[in-house]
Amino acid sequence: MKGFAMLGIGKTGWIEKERPACGPLDAICRPIVLAPCTSDVHTVWEGALGDRHDMILGHETVAEVVEVGSLVKDFKPGDKVIVPAITPDWNSIEAQDGYQMHSGGMLAGWKFSNFKDGVFGEFFHVNDADGNLAILPDGMDPVAACMLADMVPTGFHGVELADIQFGDSVVVVGIGPVGLMAVAGAALRGASHIYAVGSRPNCIQIAKEYGATDIIDYHNGDIAEQVIKKTGGKGVDRVVIAGGNVDTFAQAVTMLKPGGRIGNVNYLGEGEFIKIPRIEWGCGMGHKIIAGGLMPGGRLRMEKLASLMSTGRLDAGKLVTHRFEGFDKIEEALMLMKEKPKDLIKPVVVIKW
Ligand code: NAP
Ligand code: ZN
Repeated sequence: MKGFAMLGIGKTGWIEKERPACGPLDAICRPIVLAPCTSDVHTVWEGALGDRHDMILGHETVAEVVEVGSLVKDFKPGDKVIVPAITPDWNSIEAQDGYQMHSGGMLAGWKFSNFKDGVFGEFFHVNDADGNLAILPDGMDPVAACMLADMVPTGFHGVELADIQFGDSVVVVGIGPVGLMAVAGAALRGASHIYAVGSRPNCIQIAKEYGATDIIDYHNGDIAEQVIKKTGGKGVDRVVIAGGNVDTFAQAVTMLKPGGRIGNVNYLGEGEFIKIPRIEWGCGMGHKIIAGGLMPGGRLRMEKLASLMSTGRLDAGKLVTHRFEGFDKIEEALMLMKEKPKDLIKPVVVIKW
């Protein structure tokens, strides 16, 4: 089979591989719709996870099941499924401990395009099919559903990590597709003020549609100073970080009230250390909690978030700004993600359904 792969740090290309084998609990699927991710860019061009050779990229897809193992109960060939970017081993000790995304070691629940071939292949392998696949609901647009693989659950996990409560004032740093989903999630959780940090005009427009009440452009000066000014010197209750860099944490701590929480889902591709400002962190006693996490993944989360879309409470399809047709367009879509033209939020490649 053919796949679009990371050949080494900074290098990509088409490769040929054997079709993966199906174990008793597994499924083999073929992508119907797929999407490149900013994380693919960090992985290839920043070498953020270390070197990978001839590893097929991609972790966001809606797919068709073509084969299932003998012990799979709930799925069969021909089923259309949402495949989460994170596919934990559900019988692991880490999953029993509530951290399924780290099943088998830190970040090891993230298997596609990290520890094994990803979904940019003609076929791909899913471990623990019953625990990780979700049936595409009847009538749901597979292009919109593809946003459930990673963008929706990651943005929403930022909201969970920040533990947003009714009436909280919230800053969402970054309004690419992940940050936009954090804005939507914060609004669903009952945030009052949502300060969205970004600059691309179409992202700003969509951020407002998802519930942002104020926009902060990081080109106009330090974002912590801008937030503190807008909040009359008080700062905010919660910060979700979905963009920026290692220096964003210092700004987040500074703009946070004592007792506040930071939820980071940004994948830090560069820089060795994160600095925490001593005074603004209450000399270590400010009760300003910093949490950062990989999206949890798995079937239940996919089903629940899909039901938010089915009931019309969330329209994630608005994230898709660029649409390609055909498997051979994967490279073009990924390059677009790397170049990030101003009008891009999220590209998808539609293969066939
Ligand atoms: P994106 O489209 O590149 O968006 C990044 C956002 O950050 C943009 O709004 C950008 O502003 C803003 N930004 C850039 N530099 C900034 C700065 N210095 N200060 C403040 N804001 C700044 O990225 P994405 O696709 O939404 O992904 C966001 C992150 O989530 C990536 O690192 C991705 O790898 C990561 N991710 C994590 C997980 C997980 O499980 N934890 C899963 C998927 C993705 P502009 O409007 O000016 O462009
Ligand atoms: Zn992704």
